[in-house]
Amino acid sequence: VVRLRIDSLKRRNRHLEDMVAARTGELEDANEALRSQSLTDPLTGLRNRRYLSECIPEDLAQVARIHQNSNHGRQDRLGVNIDLIFLMVDVDHFKSVNDLFGHHAGDLVLQQLADILRAATRDTDTVVRWGGEEFLIVARNASRADSTVLAERIRSGVEKHDFDIGTGFPLKQTCSVGFSFYPFVNDRPEACNWEQVVNLADHCLYAAKRGGRNTWVGISPASDFRENELPKHLSSEIPYFLGEGRISVQTSLPGFQKLEWD
Ligand code: GH3
Ligand code: MG
Ligand code: MG
Repeated sequence: VVRLRIDSLKRRNRHLEDMVAARTGELEDANEALRSQSLTDPLTGLRNRRYLSECIPEDLAQVARIHQNSNHGRQDRLGVNIDLIFLMVDVDHFKSVNDLFGHHAGDLVLQQLADILRAATRDTDTVVRWGGEEFLIVARNASRADSTVLAERIRSGVEKHDFDIGTGFPLKQTCSVGFSFYPFVNDRPEACNWEQVVNLADHCLYAAKRGGRNTWVGISPASDFRENELPKHLSSEIPYFLGEGRISVQTSLPGFQKLEWD
């Protein structure tokens, strides 16, 4: 009788353990789904700002490691694709889409724009809905030469696309792009942090807007740009640094001298 009772209790225990394991698995899945949801923009399915602030420390650490090695003369082991490019993309005159066709049409444009950006970037890049109709792209393992190609792919991709807003006729849109690089200061990447680089990309974006829109503008430092040259607010001294030849501009606009900086 005792053995039968013990066997029955053991069976009961095993059953309870199985149940707990199954419930824990379900809970973990639900938590993971919730976490992923909290890092995703519901309208476009792109990553949101929160995702970026969670994943960026790892990227920065990797870039710092690579640059440290290269500064110690171990360049032979490195490829050239060691930078992060931050590209800020903003739809031109987007407000008029809402005003003329309604908010739902605006939402459809943003969804299709997200698809264009996904197609223009690599799987290892991150496309973030930065806010409203602004998107931030973090292109990883990139070379500085890649930036203009990527910016042009985005600009022309948007320009060429026939946006379907359910009216039966295609809607044409354009966008402007601003970009810059991390590290901005090669000898000490953390001297100009990623938020400052995003801020520079933002200034480039607004220079592109003032330059007539449907265009891209980027700035990069001279290859020997040093930490001690960096002013407190580089973004407000862009014209001076351009004049001194310490930074350079890449743009799809003919004649960058015409660009107006904030
Ligand atoms: P610019 O070329 O200078 O960028 O002009 P713009 O009209 O694109 O810029 P503005 O900042 O004046 O307007 C942005 C508009 O984006 C205003 C806002 O109503 C709209 N918007 C922001 N988020 C959403 C959204 O989720 N859905 C829709 N439909 N519209 C949005
Ligand atoms: Mg806009
Ligand atoms: Mg905007």
